Amino acid sequence: MNSSELLARNARKYPEAEAVIGMGKRYSYRAMDCLVNQFGNALLKKGISRGDKVVLFMPNVPEFVIAYFAVQRIGAIIVPINAKLTQPEVEYILDHSDAKALIVHHLLFESIKGLEVPLLLIKTGEPYGSVWEAFDHLLKKGNDAPISCTLTEEDESTILYTSGTTGRSKGVLFRYRSILTVAQMICVEMEMKPESRLLLMMPLSHSAPLHLFLMAGIVTGSTLVLTPTFTPELLLNSVEQEKTTHFFGAPVAYLLTANDPQIKQTDLSSMKWWVYGGAPLSPGEVKFVQEYFQTDNLVCVYGLTEAGPSGTLLLGKEHEGKAGSIGRRAALHTEIKIVNDRGEAVQPGEVGEILLRGEGNMARYYKDEEATKKAFSGDWLLTGDLAKVDGEGYIWVVDRKKDLIISGGVNIYPKEIEEVLLSYPSIQEAAVVGVPHKEWGETVKAYFLAKEKVNMEELKALLTENLASFKIPRLYEQVDMLPRNASGKILKQPLRDRGDK
Ligand code: ATP
Repeated sequence: MNSSELLARNARKYPEAEAVIGMGKRYSYRAMDCLVNQFGNALLKKGISRGDKVVLFMPNVPEFVIAYFAVQRIGAIIVPINAKLTQPEVEYILDHSDAKALIVHHLLFESIKGLEVPLLLIKTGEPYGSVWEAFDHLLKKGNDAPISCTLTEEDESTILYTSGTTGRSKGVLFRYRSILTVAQMICVEMEMKPESRLLLMMPLSHSAPLHLFLMAGIVTGSTLVLTPTFTPELLLNSVEQEKTTHFFGAPVAYLLTANDPQIKQTDLSSMKWWVYGGAPLSPGEVKFVQEYFQTDNLVCVYGLTEAGPSGTLLLGKEHEGKAGSIGRRAALHTEIKIVNDRGEAVQPGEVGEILLRGEGNMARYYKDEEATKKAFSGDWLLTGDLAKVDGEGYIWVVDRKKDLIISGGVNIYPKEIEEVLLSYPSIQEAAVVGVPHKEWGETVKAYFLAKEKVNMEELKALLTENLASFKIPRLYEQVDMLPRNASGKILKQPLRDRGDK
């Protein structure tokens, strides 16, 4: 059984049930399955076949779902990429993934208009130039005969490109087994049913929205409500109008929405699961979000692309006293251990690296054997996340291994310093990195963005009050902007590269 067959099964079981809602359109499971056959047959006719890579450059729109399942139905490998990428970034992925086709939504077309590559190029909306095929035309021409392609769970299904916060973007390759495993995990953990209505606002090019939500919805035959972007207003309106039951968003999506005055007039009572991940919410932020969203079921998921992203969960009721932690148990089908440099399980309070094992883990990095080797220890995935365990077994992420600063042989965790910088009233964003130093190997440098000129004496006093002296940054730079990747995470490498300038 593969994911596209699950969609066909839903069409037989729940033909009239709503499958996908988005851009003012509504599709039943029967209609969606028929469109998937049409588009799949059109791709076959255009010479795309099993094992070929097809890059999907689309926001969260119904065409994404049609193309995603059509590509999988013919046994080709889907490569969904972030809608915010620029033309050189898209070109890099087309080249690196050995893509045979690129499917683009017209809303994103402007950013890659100049692209000249010898591939099958498909675009929604009006055709453009002579080399671009029109999505709607191909769809209409496609025959809706069921496609028979025997795929097993061991077949390769998807490549997701990492967002590149820790270096050049890598292609994470998954087999169907991984995708179905993490989707089932979320179905069980978050009580998904055919009646569930999942709100998908975060980019479907990322493993959490794609595998945890879109695929989970297809496993259970639920309704997927898509929006092409995120705004607090859109979130609130979608919940109220579509009576959604599950939402996944980055912490910032919750904070922005809680701050929006419209939240007070919005009926959010249909929502059963508010899920966040990718970063923690502090205890204060959790209280704030719970209050404004009127929920006690705010759930944290921890994971990373390479793990499918199955990792751990901090359930709603566990937030009391443990907000900021990632929970104390691995999600269904996943195992976790935290080990020190000697490979032993850490003692309470000791820092070690998180390792994850389970069928959700990636098969490998595409065309990067060396990085794949480094990513695993046996069948355990080395997450690169450093964490501590408290006396009750709750896990607290301390920082990412690659961001760790070693100054004079002592480990310094930038996140701890960033938290103090961010507690200074006018500082809005902060990033702390290690830059080369002749005597100590590395020294601590703080970059920050502030609403007004910062009083450095005051800032240093705050740092001294809260941190041991060896952690206090020696270098400071106030900037107008911090470099971020397409998913909004701060890129530390360019900051390290600037050294002590
Ligand atoms: P790259 O792999 O290129 O660096 P990335 O950082 O965006 O890109 P993701 O897989 O999107 O990669 O992010 C995973 C990382 O996000 C984890 O390794 C962890 O550091 C952090 N993370 C994820 N969920 C949580 C959470 N709930 N709490 C704290 N940190 C989290």
